[in-house]
Amino acid sequence: MNFDLTDEQRRWRDLARDFAQSEIRPRAAQLDREQKFPYDIIAEMSRLGLMGLSLPEEYGGSGGDFVSYNLALEEISRADTSVGITMEAHISLGCAPISAYGTPEQKETFLLKCATGEHLWAFGLTEDNAGTDAGGTETIAELRDGEWVINGSKKWITNSGTDITAGVTAIAKTGERDNGKPELTAIIIPQETPGFTRGEPYEKTGWRASDQRPLYFENCRVPEANTLGERGRGFRQFLATLDAGRVAVAALSVGLAQACFDEALARAKERKQFGQSIAGFQAIQFKLADMAMEIELARNMVLKAAWLRDEGRPFGQEASMAKVFASETAKRAADQAVQIWGGEGFMETSAVARYWRQVKINEIGEGTSEINRQIIARSLLSESAEEAKTNMVAQ
Ligand SMILES: Cc1cc2nc3c(=O)[nH]c(=O)nc-3n(C[C@H](O)[C@H](O)[C@H](O)COP(=O)(O)OP(=O)(O)OC[C@H]3O[C@@H](n4cnc5c(N)ncnc54)[C@H](O)[C@@H]3O)c2cc1C
Repeated sequence: MNFDLTDEQRRWRDLARDFAQSEIRPRAAQLDREQKFPYDIIAEMSRLGLMGLSLPEEYGGSGGDFVSYNLALEEISRADTSVGITMEAHISLGCAPISAYGTPEQKETFLLKCATGEHLWAFGLTEDNAGTDAGGTETIAELRDGEWVINGSKKWITNSGTDITAGVTAIAKTGERDNGKPELTAIIIPQETPGFTRGEPYEKTGWRASDQRPLYFENCRVPEANTLGERGRGFRQFLATLDAGRVAVAALSVGLAQACFDEALARAKERKQFGQSIAGFQAIQFKLADMAMEIELARNMVLKAAWLRDEGRPFGQEASMAKVFASETAKRAADQAVQIWGGEGFMETSAVARYWRQVKINEIGEGTSEINRQIIARSLLSESAEEAKTNMVAQ
C-alpha cells in the first residue's frame, strides 16, 4: 500500500494551500460579515485552474484527478468554506453532470466557459416539497413543438444568481412510469431564457459569502436538445452526481475541521491561566489529540473514496461514510475549538465563532447524515455486502 501523493496531487494541494492562506483566509471574516460574493477570488482561482480542476482539458478544464480536486478543495475550505462551497457546487454539481452526460455540442456550448471558471453553473434539484425525498419533484417539463416547457420552482440553489452564472441544470418531472413513479429528466436551462427568474439571496447562518437563491420557471422554454443525457434518467444521474458530491463535501468538512484545529492549537499555546499556557493542561491536550486523530481519519476516508473513484471502482458507500464522518468530525472540532477559546470563542471577533456557525450545514447539504446512514446500512445489508466488505478491507 502506498500512501504517498503523486507529484501532481501534491502540486495541486500546495497551490491551493498557498493561494488560500495568503489570499482567502485574511478576507474570510469580512466576506462573511458583508455577505459579499468574492468575484476577484473566484477569478484568480479560475486563472490558477482551480475552478475546473477535475474537468476535462478538452473542454477547458485542468484535467486533474479526483484526489487532486479533493485535496485542493480541503485547502480552500480550510481558509473559507464559503469559497469552498462555491468551488464544490460549481465543479461537482454544476459542471460534472454536463461533463459526464452531455453531448459534444452541449459541452462545447455550456461546459467550455464553465470549466475555465469564466462562468459558473448550478444544479437545481431541491424544491419546497422535494428535499431529502428528491423523487417528489413537482417542477414539470412538457414537450411541445420540439421544446421543453418548464413550470415550477427550485430552492437554495448554490451559484444560481451570481453575475457570472451562465445557467442551471434542473431536474423536472417529464411523465409518469408504468409503476406510478415520476419520470425525472435533467434539463439544461441557460440563465437568460425567458420565463426563468431568480429570487433574492437567502440570509444564512453560514456560507454567507456564497450565493444561494430560489429559482422560478414560468412557461420557460428550451429546445429539446437541452435534455441532459437520456430522457427519464434524471434520478440515476443525480444519485451519481451526489455520490461524488458527497466526497467533496467531506473534503470541505475536513478543511473546516483543520481550520478549527489550527485556531485551537494556536490559542492553547498562547493563552495563559494559572501562570502557564493552557496547552499545559491535560484536559486541553486531550481535546487537541482527539481533534487531530479524527481529522486524520476523516481525511483518509475522503482520500480513499476519491481514490476508488479515480480507479473506476464503486465508491458510493465510502462516499457516504466519508461525508457523515467528516461532517460530524468538523462539528465536534468546531465545538472543541470554541471551548478551548473560552469566552473569546463566543465573540464574532474570533474565527472559531464563525466556524461554529458555518459547520452545521455540512451535515445537511448533499444528503443529510440520516439519509447517508441509510445508504451505508442499505449497502451493508444488500446482497453485495460481502463484495462491499472486500472493497473496504482489501483495498
Ligand atoms: C446553503 C444550502 C445550499 C444548498 N445548495 C443546493 C444546490 O445547489 N442544489 C440543490 O438541489 N439543493 C441544494 N440545497 C438543498 C439541500 O441539498 C437540502 O437541504 C438537503 O438535501 C435536505 O433537504 P431538506 O433541507 O429539505 O430537509 P428535509 O428533507 O426536510 O429533512 C428534514 C429532516 O428529516 C430527515 N429525514 C427526511 N427523510 C428522512 C428519512 N426517510 N429517514 C430519516 N430521516 C429523514 C432529514 O435527514 C432531516 O434531518 C442546499 C441547501 C442549503 C441549506
